[in-house]
Amino acid sequence: MEKLRYERPAIKKLNAGLMNKFGTRTEYAPCTHIDGVAVKDLIKEYGSPVFVISERTIRKTSQNANRAFKTRYPKVQFAWSYKTNYIDAVCNVFHQEGSWAEVVSIFEYQKAIDNGVPGNKIIFNGPEKSVADLEQAVNNGSFIHIDHFDELYDLIELTGRIKKKAKVAIRVNMDTGIYPMWDRFGFNYETGQAWNAITKIMASEYLELEGLHSHIGTFMLSTQAYSIAASKLSDLAVNIKYKYNKAIHYLDLGGGFPSANTLRGSYLPGADVIPSIDDFAEAITSTILNYGYKTEDLPLLILETGRALIDDAGYLLGSVLANKRLSDGRRATIMDFGVNILFTSFWYEHKITPAQEFSQHTEDMVMYGPLCMNIDVVRQSVNLPLLNKGDQVVVHKVGAYNMTQWMQFIAMRPKVILIDMDGKPHIIRENETVDTLRSMERKPDYLKKFKL
Ligand SMILES: *Cc1c(COP(=O)(O)O)cnc(C)c1O
Repeated sequence: MEKLRYERPAIKKLNAGLMNKFGTRTEYAPCTHIDGVAVKDLIKEYGSPVFVISERTIRKTSQNANRAFKTRYPKVQFAWSYKTNYIDAVCNVFHQEGSWAEVVSIFEYQKAIDNGVPGNKIIFNGPEKSVADLEQAVNNGSFIHIDHFDELYDLIELTGRIKKKAKVAIRVNMDTGIYPMWDRFGFNYETGQAWNAITKIMASEYLELEGLHSHIGTFMLSTQAYSIAASKLSDLAVNIKYKYNKAIHYLDLGGGFPSANTLRGSYLPGADVIPSIDDFAEAITSTILNYGYKTEDLPLLILETGRALIDDAGYLLGSVLANKRLSDGRRATIMDFGVNILFTSFWYEHKITPAQEFSQHTEDMVMYGPLCMNIDVVRQSVNLPLLNKGDQVVVHKVGAYNMTQWMQFIAMRPKVILIDMDGKPHIIRENETVDTLRSMERKPDYLKKFKL
């Protein structure tokens, strides 16, 4: 019998990053179609990279969220958070599903008006509202959520001058057991600042206190925090009823529910750690129902959830530009999309799937974007089948914040496509070109010529 061959042991450096419950593998099956449309056809028609949004998924997610709350509580209203994704076509899918508009700037406000949202179904949040912005909102009968005392004084002065009533709420910040606390927005509950603002509003001639608002954070993993928020807002509402005999018309619990994305460094995939929308609905509605309101005084419950309603519906399709070896032996793959259009890759480990069949071989790799900039890393460590130049991939759950926080840096912003309920793609936002830049820039005459 032949002697077994000796092989020198070798130490191999692993660059797997943190494992998840599946080990290091992330993906097993190619993603060739989105809502029945071939990825390769979408890229051929609209270019690479390209964002794709599924109308079917938006409607399904939105209907599920409505069901979760409306089956538990009699009066519920969703308001679409414009800053999460303010492409008009996307907003209008939400409006068709019955959502009001929730905006945090005057340009979002104008978009909501242009989209046809009635003024009295717009909630105007945020710390930045000029007197002119406030005047427009007062005239349209919108709900103005006051952020700070200077805004409150502006409103008192404005409404006194134009002699018109304004429908207002205050944003309340509070300790919900989540730290750091988001105490930079609104009036604090524990210090008595919120009550102080309420008494000033109640004493003013033209301000109608319609609601109480909180938005305690984003990508919240605790349902308990929402129970606390609901009970602190209810405490204010019940005290208002007691002192002024005025029933508060609505409680707005804001947004902040997580999507099923995986946070960077998380052991378990996002879908396994996040509470469901039903869990959040149960925490909020049972707290309000048990609080001690008289049945006729039960407030309308408003939700401004953004991320949880749109992340799943968004995909980014892209292509491999090149492969290379780094000095430490790791495989590096360079994609045609980077952090310029995928801002959320700074905090999520986005699921990335090849869009074509692949072999059994996989390798841990770094996935870079195309920017000539060191921070342009889409995935620091991802185990994927070997991708070749020209291969296509699908990045999942990118519907929230990427199409608003993207930047036009080194590369231009790509097209956004909506696949409708019948599987028909529509361009809902054109890509930028160099003409987009030219149309905005102005060259003084004396800088038009030079000799080299
Ligand atoms: C951003 C924002 C939302 C939406 O937050 P999500 O975390 O995306 O749900 C809702 N309300 C206000 C006031 C916001 O600023």
